[in-house]
Amino acid sequence: MEIIKGKCTDISSEGKGVVKVGSHIYFVDGLFVGEEAELQVQYQRSGVYFAKVKNLIKKSPVRIQPKCKICTSCGGCQYQQIDYKAQLEYKTNRVKNAIKRIAKVDVKVNDCLGAEHPYNYRNKIQVPFSKDRNGKVIYGFYKENSHIIMPVKECAIENKKAAPILWDIKLLLEKHKISTYNEDTGKGILRYVLIRTSYHFDELMVVLVTSTMNFPGQRNFIDELIKLHPEITTVVENVNSRRTNVILGEKEKILYGKGYIQDKICDLTFNISASSFFQVNPEQVEVLYKTALNLLNEDKNQVVLDAYAGVGTIGLIASNKAKHVYSVELNKFASRNAVENAKRNNISNISFACDDAGKYISSFEGDLDVVIMDPPRKGSDEVFLDTLINKKVPQIIYVSCDPETLARDISYLSKYYDVKYVQPVDMFPMTCHVETVACLRLKER
Ligand code: SAH
Repeated sequence: MEIIKGKCTDISSEGKGVVKVGSHIYFVDGLFVGEEAELQVQYQRSGVYFAKVKNLIKKSPVRIQPKCKICTSCGGCQYQQIDYKAQLEYKTNRVKNAIKRIAKVDVKVNDCLGAEHPYNYRNKIQVPFSKDRNGKVIYGFYKENSHIIMPVKECAIENKKAAPILWDIKLLLEKHKISTYNEDTGKGILRYVLIRTSYHFDELMVVLVTSTMNFPGQRNFIDELIKLHPEITTVVENVNSRRTNVILGEKEKILYGKGYIQDKICDLTFNISASSFFQVNPEQVEVLYKTALNLLNEDKNQVVLDAYAGVGTIGLIASNKAKHVYSVELNKFASRNAVENAKRNNISNISFACDDAGKYISSFEGDLDVVIMDPPRKGSDEVFLDTLINKKVPQIIYVSCDPETLARDISYLSKYYDVKYVQPVDMFPMTCHVETVACLRLKER
């Protein structure tokens, strides 16, 4: 395809360099503001072109040597090639732009709170397993927008305990002749390996995602793996026999240990099972939650709703600052974990519902002083937001993992609410993702 020359003037919300040439807009991986390059045009989608850097002509002063060799093709770490300070500036600007252009409100956006340890932070690692042309077992990450596995021995953002375990799993699969799953034929056993590490406890979980239960050679395989890695405290088999992109299936069997690990956030202890949602950056999650919960009144007299609650973490941590916390979450496994987590921490001023957040709040009887909401990337919905307005909830603490949908929802609320505070937090260093805490207060009329 065509080769063009251009200058990067902006960064898209997906972390791609934006180049304008004539009336065309090109999105380019790994090109940063101020840089000039020769670009190989790849394809066009809904009026925008996607291109790759063929030859970098002018480098940005913030460009650095990335730690990971495949970071230019894996697509997981859009920002590993620029220094950490520059990454934080991009994230602050992304939130600023969304608030200005989409929410159209005039409010100061604080500088993004950076991580002390921007590498090797992820407590959850999941990798597909397969075979290469020579029949050797490989594992790694999918090349961006594809199902081609790029073998990688060490990922720059995952917990360092994972790499040696994954390598030995590969060797043991070969030794015990345990097959890997073939996506094209639907045959073979091992599909993915998921590793969860605990930050506060010496506990580590290995999840083997397989196509059938009880594969041959299982016992010896597990025994040898545990002998090689005594840091593994539990092994779970998760069976996913469907031909789908979803990693985990519904059936699970504990092969070793207690089937879950524990970790702490802000002094509370949580049980984490193979399929639970749990925030992946154990240091920054405390920064995020503290930023959000500092916005609560100190008088401990408020009724709080924690919506989109996951395993209940935010609501449970908020409970010692509230009269009562209501918690609502759609996923039944997460909701069940939330109930257990309350018991585990002896917290009684909290109640849980497993429901759609909009449906729940619109039939909620009684007043709410504060609503904390932490929806998935697609943001909240009109039923939920309309109810906040109708119920005249005085304070909303919005925890968001997508600045653009946050800004859209703020815009929807902005006739009735003032935005008082916007604080981006970096939960995912090296990537273009950014979390934001926003505080909204009901306008006085
Ligand atoms: N607050 C939690 C989880 C945030 S992730 C934490 O900090 O860990 C968003 C959560 O919203 C997920 O657990 C997801 O299952 C849940 N969710 C998605 N759609 C929902 C809906 N319509 N109603 C309630 N919860 C929903």
